[in-house]
Amino acid sequence: MYEDMAGAAARRGMIDLRSDTVTLPSPAMREAISAAELGDDVYGEDPTVNRLEELAAELIGKEAAVLVPTGTMGNLSAVLAHGGRGDRVILGDECHIYRYEAGGASALGGLIYHALPNGADGTIDLDQLRAAAAASDDPHQSPPGLICLENTHNRCGGVVLPLSYMAAAHAIAQEHGLPLHLDGARVFNAAVALGVDVREITRHVDSVQFCLSKGLSAPVGSMVAGTRPFIARVRRMRKILGGSMRQAGVFAAAGVVALSEMVGRLADDHANARQLAAGLAAIPGLDIDLSRVQTNIVRFELRDERLSVADLTGRLRERGVLVGGMGGQTIRAVTHYGIEAADIDRAVQAVREALAG
Ligand SMILES: *Cc1c(COP(=O)(O)O)cnc(C)c1O
Repeated sequence: MYEDMAGAAARRGMIDLRSDTVTLPSPAMREAISAAELGDDVYGEDPTVNRLEELAAELIGKEAAVLVPTGTMGNLSAVLAHGGRGDRVILGDECHIYRYEAGGASALGGLIYHALPNGADGTIDLDQLRAAAAASDDPHQSPPGLICLENTHNRCGGVVLPLSYMAAAHAIAQEHGLPLHLDGARVFNAAVALGVDVREITRHVDSVQFCLSKGLSAPVGSMVAGTRPFIARVRRMRKILGGSMRQAGVFAAAGVVALSEMVGRLADDHANARQLAAGLAAIPGLDIDLSRVQTNIVRFELRDERLSVADLTGRLRERGVLVGGMGGQTIRAVTHYGIEAADIDRAVQAVREALAG
């Protein structure tokens, strides 16, 4: 325990760009947490959870919403509520559900992942999507169960799917009678980047999962939203998965603040990401595609033969900057609440020094 505290203290002077999950609750959140009215949410009696679920449904433009502990559980409970054993989950091969959620829908639900290639822009080719979504009478084939998209797309560098693409994918899903689920862990980043109400995005999907605990800075929690009957099924899946909680208003209170006060400031994170990307682009030995820096994620490649990614991230750590190796030569930096423009200048300077030797 003391070691943990020391670790936390040591990290305090650090510029931590590994993820927007490292955000700590704002002062307003800490106040809301301590003042939260509580009850047993398994009985539906936590007034703060109820308020958060109503607010989330309203903001995201769906009939109902339910609080879950994590984005992973949100996606899994949604997928399990949409499809059954033997059904195919049609998704992109770079998406979080496929790459980073431990195969939950297969492991626990008997669904099959049907992964299609993700373009660098986070989209799945619409012709391939249409072909995968078509049901077949052939008993050799497993039936399509649902389609999943991700917006913003994490592994593709936080890129935003165009609204026209969302509409086209939705039309394909509807044509084939399939639900379209959005892994919208960072869907508010997408809305802010597009300059639209988030409902302009979510109107094209049947269900959505979004995280309170990333750029919106709540300590815990994600929401799943959709129709009332769908959310009733998600609640049952959440129960099966062990995610029905008691006085969850303790952190739902922070979620209310996240949705009320923290969405607008995501624009600052995007500006900081652009500033970081521009600084990195000017450093020899790094490759960065500026057109893909659209929200709060900056991905870049190390092209300096003398240095490994581990060497570089190690040198950055010594200089007080934390970034993440993403496999191969790729490094990721994520801007978020608590990172200021001055930190970006320091981070760029640290990268310059680290590469200089
Ligand atoms: C973080 C993330 C999740 C999962 O959220 P957790 O709360 O970490 O389980 C799902 N999808 C995407 C795109 C994410 O970035």
